[in-house]
Order: sequence, then structure tokens, then C-alpha cells
Amino acid sequence: MCKVIAVANQKGGVGKTVTCVNLGTGLAMNGKKVLMIDADPQGSLSISLGITEPDQLEYTLATAMLGIINEDEIDVTAGIIHHDEGVDILPGNIELSSLEVSLSGVISRETILREYVDKAREIYDYVIIDCMPSLGMMTINALSCADSVLIPVQAAYLPVKGLQQLIKTIGRVKKQLNPSLNIEGILITMVDNRTNYAKDITSQIHDAYSASVNVFPVEIPLSVRAAEISAEGSSLYVYDPKGKAANAYKELIKEVMNNG
Ligand code: ADP
Ligand code: MG
Repeated sequence: MCKVIAVANQKGGVGKTVTCVNLGTGLAMNGKKVLMIDADPQGSLSISLGITEPDQLEYTLATAMLGIINEDEIDVTAGIIHHDEGVDILPGNIELSSLEVSLSGVISRETILREYVDKAREIYDYVIIDCMPSLGMMTINALSCADSVLIPVQAAYLPVKGLQQLIKTIGRVKKQLNPSLNIEGILITMVDNRTNYAKDITSQIHDAYSASVNVFPVEIPLSVRAAEISAEGSSLYVYDPKGKAANAYKELIKEVMNNG
């Protein structure tokens, strides 16, 4: 059985991409077959996994989705780049921006990615989708094909309003497009435990959401090493294996694997 997890938050800079990198490679370390899909036109996931110039690539997620719109046969091996740490990547790049615009004129525009992902389910144990920082058509496509959404939230400001909007969108997608969609959990990231502010925000998120949504007990600490991995092309398990952020992500992976 394959599980598809969309990592989403319409706010940028909350740790989506860093979480994808360490979630995907960590699952692979546990023997899982993992596909990581970069659904952000900025290509940050691709870059973080060592694909330094995603805009130069011939075949990316945009190519795959255009093929589906044109009713071509789906080939899930096309364009896949294999990373040393045992994950497969379908890169994304700037072409996703124009694709998102052209999606508006397409029939079943919300479920184009699902056709691709349903094929990938036959091959992989996990598919991790790094969403772009918006609730536009690409993110709706990701939510429409996912089994669950993991929501990174930065412990640096009060995110309540944006989170409510995201949870509402997830509810709408669940109702109208993808009844089996669940929330994997809210993951609090970049926690600076030296400050009371971080503690306040953490407890406010728990107070506001833990009755209705899983808030992961593990928090990702603020870590200079975590901020450096995108330039390194590797995960924290390689770059800073003994660090506290690597340990926190290992804990997250246990929890995700326990969630089934
Ligand atoms: P998003 O994908 O939501 O935009 P990123 O994963 O790119 O967020 O993270 C935003 C910025 O914060 C990046 O510069 C990243 O390197 C940094 N960052 C991510 N996680 C951590 C962390 N745990 N500690 C410190 N910096 C982090
Ligand atoms: Mg990102």
C-alpha cells in the first residue's frame, strides 16, 4: 500500500521543503521506496536534492502533467532522477507557473496530478509532494491526490489565520474532490527553545488545534545546519547526523510510519 503525503502551507518559509527532504530520505533509510515530487515552480526541493539547475531540465512535473492533459500514455519512469540517499525525484521548475495558468481551461483541472500519482502508487511505498506557497491550482492538485497533508508551521509568529484558511481548503477538497484526504498533522518547525515566544506559540497551536487535528508531539528545532542543507544537496542524516534537527526528523518519521 502506498501513502501519498502532501506537505503544504500557503505561507512560504515555514519549512515545507526542508521537511520534505528529511521526511523522504528518512523513509528511504527505513527501507521504503520513496518518490518525491517537486510541485513548486521555484524548484527548491529539486535544488535541495542536488539538482542545481531545474530550469534547464527537459522533463519535469510540468512535462508529465502536460502529457496527461494531452491524453498521452503516462510513464512514471520518465524524468525521474535518483538521489544517492535512495529516493527518486520528479523535479519541478518554472514551467509549473505557466502550467498552472493553463490548467484553468482544462477539464478536471483539479485532478491531473492524481492520474500521475495513481500510477506511481503501483511502484512506491510513499510519495511526498512539496507544495508551493499558495492555495492555487497546483496545491489543489496535490491535495486532490494525497492521502494526507502534513502542515509545517513556523514557531515564529502567530499563524492562526493562515492555518484556518488552509484547514478550510483541505476540508473543501475532501468534500468535493478527495473524500479519503486526512490531515497527517501540524508540524511545528524552527523552534527556538531559548525563547518564551516559541513556547507561547507552541502552546497556542496545541490549544487551538489539538482537539481537532493531530499536532505532532515532536518539534523541529531551529538549526543552522538545517538551513544549510539545501546548498549541500543532502539530508540532515548525511550532513549533520548527530544534530538535534536530524534526531527530531527521525522522531517525525517514526510517528508518520505509525500513522500507517
Ligand atoms: P518553505 O518550503 O516552506 O518555503 P523552507 O523549507 O525552504 O520553507 O525553509 C525556509 C528557510 O528556513 C530556508 O532558508 C531553510 O533553509 C530554513 N530552515 C528550514 N528549517 C529550518 C530549521 N529547522 N532551522 C533553521 N532554519 C531552517
Ligand atoms: Mg519550499
